Amino acid sequence: MPELPEVEALAQFLRAHAVGHQVARVDPASMSALKTFDPPVSALVDRTVTGAARYGKFLDLVCGLSDGPASDNAGGLHLVTHLSRAGWLRWHDTASAVPPKPTGKGPIALRVHLDSVGGPGFDLTEAGTQKRLAVYVVTDTDQVPGIGRLGPDALDLSRDEFAALLKGRTERIKNLITDQKVLAGIGNAYSDEMLHVAKLSPYAVSGRLDEARRDALFAAMRQVLSDAVARSVGQDAARLKGEKRSGMRVHARNGLPCPVCGDTVREVSFADRSFQYCPTCQTGGKPLADRRLSRLVR
Ligand SMILES: [Zn+2]
Repeated sequence: MPELPEVEALAQFLRAHAVGHQVARVDPASMSALKTFDPPVSALVDRTVTGAARYGKFLDLVCGLSDGPASDNAGGLHLVTHLSRAGWLRWHDTASAVPPKPTGKGPIALRVHLDSVGGPGFDLTEAGTQKRLAVYVVTDTDQVPGIGRLGPDALDLSRDEFAALLKGRTERIKNLITDQKVLAGIGNAYSDEMLHVAKLSPYAVSGRLDEARRDALFAAMRQVLSDAVARSVGQDAARLKGEKRSGMRVHARNGLPCPVCGDTVREVSFADRSFQYCPTCQTGGKPLADRRLSRLVR
């Protein structure tokens, strides 16, 4: 699932490549992905892209009025996307003029043509059969329900603000830092990585972390996310077919050696997701209970 670093890299790519260009045509291919109907997607046509932004894991393409100055976002429209689990934004220097089939079953959810049809543009794509990618056209980003409820951004938070977020919270730290209403931008993958760097158990109770542990987690958060943003920007994210991660220490590395201590990375599985950690680095050498495994043992 694209998280803060990947979405940030896509926003930076759009700032460099789409800003200043006029929307020539929009081809919606998946009606289920489109969550708003007023204004219609066609209202984007003839507008000039004036910016791109990220809110948590949401991507925002800002389209100004065609007759206004490019820097004036008043009266602008926002094409907001939540890429969900398997979504991506793929840039084409020459986008195909043939509209994608509007069956909603293919990988393309929406195509945007810039300058002219057959000119540059991008596809919003989603792999797999579970379609969860969401697209909104709004006059104000707070009209997107998920954005209005977002907590502070993970890369835009001071040490003291981070400490205040954790104070008195009884949730397990893994759950708290991936709750978008508490802290925006972090999902399953980067929370695994942060907790490993900070040498914290995913099951630690958030409000009970002492100052040294909180500081370690705050430093790990900034380091892991900034490194990943730099890596994703360096890959020219929007020219890739989908998210491509490298340099993961524990996430999705079940059964492989921990790069720090050599212990075997373990996993806790739930019905629809799983997370990974290193027992030696994070849980005093003790494996965490895993429902699936305990069933097998019994
Ligand atoms: Zn380790």
